[in-house]
Amino acid sequence: MDIPLVDLKAQYAAIREEIDTAVHRVMERGEFILGSEVEAFEKEMAAYLGAKYAVGVASGTEALQLALLACGIGPGDEVVTTPFTFIATAEAITQCGATPVFVDIDRRTYNLNPQKLAELLQRKLSPQSPVPSHRKVGSIGDAGCLSFFPSKVLGAYGDGGMVMTNNREIAEKVKMLRNHGCREKYYHLLPGFNSRLDALQAAILRVKLRHVDDWIRLRQEKASCYAQLLEGVDGIELPYVGSGSEHVFNYYTIRVRALLRDKLREYLSSQGIATAIYYPLSLHLQEVYRSLGYQPGDFPESERAQEEVLSLPMYPEMSEEEIERIAKEIKNKIETRTESDW
Ligand SMILES: *Cc1c(COP(=O)(O)O)cnc(C)c1O
Repeated sequence: MDIPLVDLKAQYAAIREEIDTAVHRVMERGEFILGSEVEAFEKEMAAYLGAKYAVGVASGTEALQLALLACGIGPGDEVVTTPFTFIATAEAITQCGATPVFVDIDRRTYNLNPQKLAELLQRKLSPQSPVPSHRKVGSIGDAGCLSFFPSKVLGAYGDGGMVMTNNREIAEKVKMLRNHGCREKYYHLLPGFNSRLDALQAAILRVKLRHVDDWIRLRQEKASCYAQLLEGVDGIELPYVGSGSEHVFNYYTIRVRALLRDKLREYLSSQGIATAIYYPLSLHLQEVYRSLGYQPGDFPESERAQEEVLSLPMYPEMSEEEIERIAKEIKNKIETRTESDW
């Protein structure tokens, strides 16, 4: 593709010296699992997001699972979450032995619909622990979870994740769970996991953390550039940013009427422009959750979103010319659409 969805090579080129220095520091020191680099990164992240504790783990998925376990979630529990997200959120619930309970999303924000959640909590009496999926997580709720998957706003050069919390007990428990359930080596208090953040990833993430605010600002600039060029284009809806909210634009996701969405995607691909669909099938309709008994039509907003969303290329190093080209091709396809495209 001439214009990729994300360009991690461009990012590395811009910070190569800092990254290489950090990586060499770790290799010279010879300490690769947890250790001082991970501790320093945990402190810096806690300060950055305004949480008391940050615990580095092996992935975002495991951050979710360990946080749920540390909160005492287990077999027999029901945990509410959104059907319109990556499978990891529901998977973490299932892997704790609990059952995911889905609640439809808000049409504009794609986040879990708070009103629908309130309605569900009134109907159901068993204890519920909602796991919303949202942006820039910090210190709200019992715990917040981050993924450092390479393509995320703050991405490692491999897998990584983190649990943020203000609750010391939860932090301590996640620390034990990530490291075979021990506080002291070879003395195991709980059945745990091998889910540690490694020092190389921590060192790389420490470098990137210094740039992340600039990158978010650049993403926001690219987003306004898209918005200016695509505002008012027939059949297209731009991302919504609520008043008092900020969007970090990990993705730049527009909505396109269903059939045209796939035709537009094909056309952009033929022009060398990559796009993606996050996500093409709502979680309640996935084969893995068939036994939960959900049906098509149960969550109309989530199901409509899966047919209409289209994520356009978005990364801090994109040029305005590239955005102009993408917008021009989108308009071009929409203006020349035929009856059968709708
Ligand atoms: C990326 C992502 C995950 C998965 O994180 P990994 O680090 O890949 O395990 C889970 N939930 C959401 C919402 C994500 O965006």
